[in-house]
Amino acid sequence: MGSRYDHRYSEYNTHPVVDGTTMTMVVKLRVWMPLEDDPTNGDEVITCKRLPCKYITCYSCDGRGTHVNPDIDSHGLTEEDFERDPQFREDYFKGRYDVTCYNCAGKRVIPVIDKDRLSPEEAVLVSGHEKLEREEAEYEAEYAAMVRSERLFGC
Ligand SMILES: [Zn+2]
Repeated sequence: MGSRYDHRYSEYNTHPVVDGTTMTMVVKLRVWMPLEDDPTNGDEVITCKRLPCKYITCYSCDGRGTHVNPDIDSHGLTEEDFERDPQFREDYFKGRYDVTCYNCAGKRVIPVIDKDRLSPEEAVLVSGHEKLEREEAEYEAEYAAMVRSERLFGC
């Protein structure tokens, strides 16, 4: 599960192709390749794989096709924001600040890898990719937290 405005998935995937009863798409996977002479070191490479996929309800917009413009509420709105400005509250709940969903482009669904239909080899590739993605997301979150606290202390 990504964050609400996680573009990563759509970036890495292509449009699904239906062939008979199976739907597949080309997915870019990150693979860690250990060096031959030093297995503790390695390089990350990108490999393209056609994998089984399925559609799920878009998690960014909960299947609505639109969401509130992140410029408005990505920093988190509080009850106070609404109390201070009743007009803003009304507009907000009427959907005046809604934009076409960034993640599904208004389609309400997004294609994801269908893990139930992966071969064992494919499953290994996908879980390796997810581990690298997770590590990067954690690193980014740590970095963002560091930048925030530095700002707080006026560095
Ligand atoms: Zn969406």
